[in-house]
This record gives sequence, structure tokens and C-alpha cells, in this order.
Amino acid sequence: MLTDFHVHLRPDSFPSEASEYFTAANAERYREAASERGIELLGVAEHVHRFTQSLDVWRHPWWERNAVDDLDAYCEFVRSQTDLKLGIEADFVAGREDRMANLLEARDWDYVVGSVHFLRDAAVDMDEWDVWESGDPEQVWRRYFETLGEAARSGMYDILAHPDLVKVWGRKRPLPEGDLRRFYDLAMDGIADADVAIEVSTAGLRKPVGEIYPAPAFLEMCLEAGKPVALSSDAHVPGQLGFEYDRAVEMLRSMGVTEIADFERRERRTVPLG
Ligand SMILES: [Zn+2]
Ligand SMILES: [Zn+2]
Repeated sequence: MLTDFHVHLRPDSFPSEASEYFTAANAERYREAASERGIELLGVAEHVHRFTQSLDVWRHPWWERNAVDDLDAYCEFVRSQTDLKLGIEADFVAGREDRMANLLEARDWDYVVGSVHFLRDAAVDMDEWDVWESGDPEQVWRRYFETLGEAARSGMYDILAHPDLVKVWGRKRPLPEGDLRRFYDLAMDGIADADVAIEVSTAGLRKPVGEIYPAPAFLEMCLEAGKPVALSSDAHVPGQLGFEYDRAVEMLRSMGVTEIADFERRERRTVPLG
């Protein structure tokens, strides 16, 4: 079986109105594109910062600009007008764990996808609020993986999204030298202690880095720690569903992975891969 759970019903660009994209017809387009690619288990995970309720968690200026939709209306739409699983992509914001946990626990998700995009006020993957202006890749990578470990340990998430997102820019930003496992190690205690699935995401293949998230060496460490894999594309349009899945499946098979995770009402089960 194939899955795609980390999926957005609309592009990140503006305008990208809920009224235009949160429709039964748009959900049907996603379902059809998924079927064409052999993806049976399909869900959506909109960015939490698109919803006004996220401002109870954090008032970053970028969130304030984006938070216009109602979270409960989104949940209601997915449950009543689509046959898609209901998820959300919720940032890990250090120091705001309780507030985010409150937002998440009040709703009936199939799964929660946890992401680290921000290190304090700066983002690893945005031109605006660019963490890289502070330079030192050694420090940025260290902070990123420490934060990822905290995100896992928080227990808020079913899936840890794009686990080495910090590499997104590839050579367009400074890269640390040598064996990167010294960074992955910083996240591993938190990951090992958590009941969380590790996302294998083909989104990185569409980004400057041109690689699957996470790197094989990082995935290897997660598999050794006994963590299950959740396969997704981070699609923002139907055409990106299952993007380059052949490469992801090949990588997983080569590492001995034969099962992937499925989620319903925050219960996890495993299904055969492929
Ligand atoms: Zn993300
Ligand atoms: Zn996403």
C-alpha cells in the first residue's frame, strides 16, 4: 500500500483562499490524482498557522499575517465533505508546548504532523525570517536537531515531518562539513523515547537540496531505534501527490523497510509497503 498524509489542499502562495480550496470538488481532485498513482490511504494536514486559533499559541508576525481561517470549520469540512483523513501540520514552537497541546487535544484528528520550521523567531526554510543570516552552519544545524529531538519528546505528534528540513537550501546556504551523524545524534534521544513515526518525504526532491527527507544515514538511526516510517509527499497541489515515490520506495526497500504507518483517530497501525 502507499500513503500520503502530509498533504496541503492549497499552495502556500497568496491568495490561497479557504473558500476556493476547502471544497468537495478540490478534495475529489486530490483523491483522483492519488488513485492514479496507486495511493489508497490519503489525508490532509493544513498548516496550523493558517488558522486564527494558532495565535493563541504564538504571535509571530508571519503567523499573524497568515492566520485568517477557522480551524474548526476546516475540521468540519474535511469530516463532512470529503473522504480524506483529517490531519494538521503543527509547528513545534519551543516554550509553547502547552498551548499547542491544548489546541491539538481539543480536536479529533486522525494524526498530527509535527514540524520544526522555526528556531526562535527565524525560519530554516524561508527567505523572509531567514535563520541563515546569522551564518554559522554548525550552530544552525545543532540547534535544528536539538529542537527536533524536543519536538519528538513533547509527545504531541504522531509523525515527525521532513526530519532534516535544515538541509532544504542545499548549496544555497552554508553547509556543515564532515559526517552529519553528529547532528542527527542530537535528536536521537528524544526520538528514541517518543512513540512517533518518522516521515519519509519526497518534498526535498522538489527543493534546492534535491534529496529525500531524511538522509539515509538519519533514517538508519531511526530504524535502529525501532521507529516506524510514514510516507508522504508534502504536496500542495494534486499533481505533487506521490511525487517521485518510486525513489522513496526503492530507498526504503534497500534499507529493509517492508511496512509503513497508517493512522485513524490517532491510533497507528502498519500496512505493507508498496
Ligand atoms: Zn513543513
Ligand atoms: Zn507541509
